[in-house]
Order: sequence, then C-alpha cells, then structure tokens
Amino acid sequence: MRIALVSAQASPLGLGGPTAGGRHTHVAALARALGAMSHEVTVYVRREDRAAPERLPFAPGVTVEQVPAGPVESLPADDTLPHMGDFGRALAARWGDEAGVGPDVVHAHYWLSGLAALTATADVRRPVVVTYHGLASAERRILPVDHNAGPGPRAGMERTLGSLADRVVAQSEDEVAELGRMGVRRAATVIVPSGVDTELFTPSGAAADHRRPGLRRILSVGPLVPRKGFGDLVEALRRVPGAELVVVGGPDPARPPRDIDADPEARRLIQLADTHGVADRVRIVGAVTPEELAAWYRSADVLACAPWYEPFGLTPLEAMACGVPVVAYAVGGIGESVIDNVTGVLVPPRDVNAMAGALRALLGDEVRRMSFASAAIDRVRSRYSWERAATELERVYQTVTGGPAAADGAEESSEEDELSEVS
Ligand code: UDP
Repeated sequence: MRIALVSAQASPLGLGGPTAGGRHTHVAALARALGAMSHEVTVYVRREDRAAPERLPFAPGVTVEQVPAGPVESLPADDTLPHMGDFGRALAARWGDEAGVGPDVVHAHYWLSGLAALTATADVRRPVVVTYHGLASAERRILPVDHNAGPGPRAGMERTLGSLADRVVAQSEDEVAELGRMGVRRAATVIVPSGVDTELFTPSGAAADHRRPGLRRILSVGPLVPRKGFGDLVEALRRVPGAELVVVGGPDPARPPRDIDADPEARRLIQLADTHGVADRVRIVGAVTPEELAAWYRSADVLACAPWYEPFGLTPLEAMACGVPVVAYAVGGIGESVIDNVTGVLVPPRDVNAMAGALRALLGDEVRRMSFASAAIDRVRSRYSWERAATELERVYQTVTGGPAAADGAEESSEEDELSEVS
C-alpha cells in the first residue's frame, strides 16, 4: 500500500534535536514499522532546512519529503497554521488527479496536518485518517489559562476535522471519551495506542553516570515547559531525602533561546529548587538523543511523571521498557499505560504530597521496585510493540481503502469491542 504520513509540524529528521517531542518519535517509528511491513511510505514534512534535499531516504521503504510552505526555518507548531493551505495544495499537486497515482491512504498527525490533508484531498478523494496527539478541548479544560491550547480556532477545527476524516485514531480510552464530548462519531473512532521502540529502550545496555554516588535517582523526561510539572517534582524532592532529581529534555521550542542555561523554565526550576533547599540535588541535563536517553532511563531508580495534562505520554512507556518503575499523575493516557501497584504507582494529578509519598515509599522498597520493573517490561513487550501498533493501523488503512480488513469486517468488530469498553 502507498501510505502518506502527513506531519508538517514534526519531522522524523528532527529526532533527538532540541525541539523534538512525542510526535517526532511517533511518526518516525510508525514510518519505520510500516516500511518494514513492505508498504511504500512517504512522510511529508514542512520544509525547514534549505540545505537538506527535498527527498531523503529515511529507512527501508520510507522517504521523507520536505514540502515548501511558509518560511524555510523552524517554527513553533501552531505558528504554521497560515501555511497549511499552501502545504495541502502542494501535496495535491504532487499527488496529481489520476486514479492509481499518489497515496492510497493519507494519515495526518496533529490537527494542523489534518487540515492540510483535507485540503490535499478536497478535489481528488483519498481516505484520510487522523491522529490528533492532543486535543484543544481537553487542554483548555485542564491547563491553566496562561498555558493556552494553541490558536483560538483550534478546538472548532479539530471538531470539523473529526467529522470529515474517514477514521480518527485515538491513543487511549480517555481520548475516545474526549472525542465523544466533541461530537466525533464513535463509529469513526478506533483506539490504537502508540508503540515504543523496544529495540532501543531495553533493560540491558549502557547507563548514564551517577555524578553523586549514594543518591537514588528520580528521572523525569520531556520538553522543558511548565505543563510537564517538573516544578511539582522539585517541590516533592524536599520530602524525598537521599534522592536526586534529573530532568532530561529540551527548551520550549516556542520560546528561544534554545540554550539550556538561558532557558527561562530551566532558570525557574533552579530558583524553585533553591527556595526549597534542594538545589544541590536537582540536575537539568537538556535535550539528548534517543540513544543517550535510553542510558539515562537505565540509570534511574524510578521515572517520575507529573504532567498537568498528557494525551498519551511516551516517556513512562520508554522507562518501563528499560525496566524502570514509574510514579505518575493519573492523567490522560498515563492512567491507562501505567498499571497502579503493578508497573508503578499512580497518584492524583497535581498532588505534590502524594507524589512525594509514593516516591519515598518506592525508593525505600527494592523488592517492590524489582517486581514493578519486571511487570513493566512484560507489559510494554506484550502491549506496546510498534509491530502491534503498525499492524492495527494497517487494518485501519485497509478498512478505509476497502481492502481485505474491510471485506472481513475484522477491524469494525475490534473497534466495537474497544468502544463498548468505554461506553
Ligand atoms: N525525547 C528525546 N530526547 C530528550 C527528551 C525526550 O528524544 O532529551 C523524546 C522521548 O524519547 C519521547 C519524546 O521525546 O519519545 C517525548 O514524548 P512525550 O509523549 O513524553 O511528550 P511530548 O513531547 O509529546 O509532550
């Protein structure tokens, strides 16, 4: 099958860079997995780099194409809205108007790429599948007002996108519920949780150094933005003696400078650590490559995850794949990927005391940590492999293109099963 992955705002080529996040990881790994299944995959990204060639082989069966739309420089994702019309028209021009030419299915990632996919398929119908990777309606409800959920029209456009797409891929039951509240038809929604790179994130392999021997290590990973809740962890650390907090992740792509020491959130966290008397136990590393990140996970006694909102959350699963138990706020997809008291501990969102208590208890109980670690490895291998995610998505593509899965109805029934669980 010829598969177009439209990801104007998150290029696989940016993996491991200072602005990379969950969508970069997801799109790159999905493309690789589909390519390995002998599909012909093209990932369409917005041209940000004048020096890079327009078409670049990325993995077996996978090409990344840079599509010119807007300034040739890196932009914060939501600033690309004015360029999505051009992006979509450029795709339509590439795909042409002949049947049998161009992609069989278009899978868009993030609402803005979804809009571009609708523009690209307006004249020549091609099935469109969309994965939102976060919804404005949930972000507006959960996040404080000053951490707004992108441009004003986003929520309305996400609703329209949901009504026009052939399939909406939700990554958790929590997201299905949110889509339902938005009015997206349940029959058009299917749950396929993201996969995790279980070849890279493994329990054995190099581990990052302990600069301060004798301290237990609490690791937290993600872009350096307030909504990731690193501040809550700094506060919690006051009540977790004998432990250090290591934060790995890059500066906010929307707010230069990108230098870690000059980063406003890094400075705020250091100041907060000073206020709470824990500055000597907090370390902010900055962005690292996925390979380096695997070594950081392996060096940790526990992964702490304290976001205010998290549509899916890859880092808890990556840590689990490395055999690291997780203590997390029970938000969004994390409340489903981490099994409380089996692969980690879930605590109520924004409850710093509960976070501190859970970290202290788990760090003091090696037997429990070991039992969580082996359950975590099993859970990721059995439920979150990319092979499984890509196979389920292949079935979705077959359904919308009228292929074998549509004929035997397999995908429809699994969809109903999953949806009945949440209704
Ligand atoms: N990541 C990385 N280097 C870093 C920090 C994070 O490659 O220094 C990757 C990490 O492996 C994960 C992604 O960035 O795949 C973060 O995804 P998550 O879903 O946790 O958060 P998001 O960025 O989507 O808010």
